[in-house]
Amino acid sequence: MKIQSIRGVRDILPGEIEKWQWVEGIARRVFARYGFQEIRLPVFEKTALFSRSIGETTDIVEKEMYTFPDRGGEMITLRPEGTASVVRAYIEHKLYNPPSLIKLYYMGPMFRYERPQAGRFRQFYQIGIEAMGSASPMVDVEVMTLLLDFFRELGITGLKLEINSLGCPECRPQYREALKTAIRPHLEALCTNCNQRYERNPLRVLDCKVERDREIAATLPKLCDHRCAACEDNFAAVRSLLDISETAYSVNPLLVRGLDYYSRTTFEVVSGNLGAQNAVCGGGRYDSLVEDFDGPPTPCFGFALGMERLISLLPDNADADLQPRPDVFIVALGAQADRASITFAARLRAAGFAVERDYDGGSMKSQMRKANRAASRLALIVGDNELAAKKYTLKNMGNGEQQEVAEEDLTTAVTSALGSPAAD
Ligand code: ATP
Ligand code: MG
Repeated sequence: MKIQSIRGVRDILPGEIEKWQWVEGIARRVFARYGFQEIRLPVFEKTALFSRSIGETTDIVEKEMYTFPDRGGEMITLRPEGTASVVRAYIEHKLYNPPSLIKLYYMGPMFRYERPQAGRFRQFYQIGIEAMGSASPMVDVEVMTLLLDFFRELGITGLKLEINSLGCPECRPQYREALKTAIRPHLEALCTNCNQRYERNPLRVLDCKVERDREIAATLPKLCDHRCAACEDNFAAVRSLLDISETAYSVNPLLVRGLDYYSRTTFEVVSGNLGAQNAVCGGGRYDSLVEDFDGPPTPCFGFALGMERLISLLPDNADADLQPRPDVFIVALGAQADRASITFAARLRAAGFAVERDYDGGSMKSQMRKANRAASRLALIVGDNELAAKKYTLKNMGNGEQQEVAEEDLTTAVTSALGSPAAD
């Protein structure tokens, strides 16, 4: 019986995984420069954590969560995003003591029951950042700057930073009502999804991807005309700090996010090269979520970026140097040579070199072919003659040059041919 993987879920194989590891490595480096530390979170949580934080009326909670009772009857959900878990951990471990700005990042799989299509999977991967414990617009701007540094270091171009301010609990309810009034006459023309959103989450109408709905959305009242003075000041401060840090952005007054917990600054990074699923990264401020979960007042700012979409934007030549290559391929001819080569391989690996070999006792020709195919830098030839003379042939696979090397000089000879092994 042939069993295949589940729809919308895939394997990441050698050949592609190198890109992922490279991206993750750069993320860790860039995030560390800004003082962010990793947090590893569980992949499943109590369902209530997500339904309460993300919001009962959001698409994620209404129709996208993988929720099931475990054997004890407790309702469990495979995490659809990371922020809720970070907030839970922050409160559970009292990370607010002593009070300071806590800077965390996470990486890992998320699960949403969505229609699989280009750029949309049911298990997908996110890298996320959460800065917890400050309302300063400086935090908003530093996190967005970090993100753009990260993209720059990956060599990704053609990205646009779009920002908006979603207002706060003071001004958003009035806007919500004004929006509903303005949407009402359009209900017949709007899609069924938007008709449901109208009642429960009218701001989401602004975010609809249906072309006709987008035209209508453009005519609706804008949040910027309803924000309170404090929110306006805050948004002006964010924009001016972005200007000072020479960060290009545009204000998109229609930008809202699909999760309920956002307030004030919200942003997305979009690419012209991704088709319909054009958002690589989304985030913003969520100043009341920690309190909603009975933690102390803790204004926060964060983002989550989609790994699959990010990887698909890497420049074509990004993985030129990423594919692993052996430093030395050992070509051993005969049983005695096989045994001797065990010691040679161990010694070279202990010195930090990547050593590959043939395991099936092929001919010289077939082993050299394997060395070539593996793109090995050097080949070490161990045959009867070499064993008798205690001198081994080290061949440079790039230029074909060969030298005879005594057993005790092996590591030195490989080092002088290749340089010291790369520290990783
Ligand atoms: P979208 O509008 O594309 O559905 P979203 O608002 O649901 O995105 P977020 O919850 O903000 O997305 O997640 C942040 C990022 O995670 C997105 O910008 C996207 O790059 C990625 N992402 C979200 N859902 C998926 C998915 N099903 N498959 C692959 N990547 C995804
Ligand atoms: Mg979505």
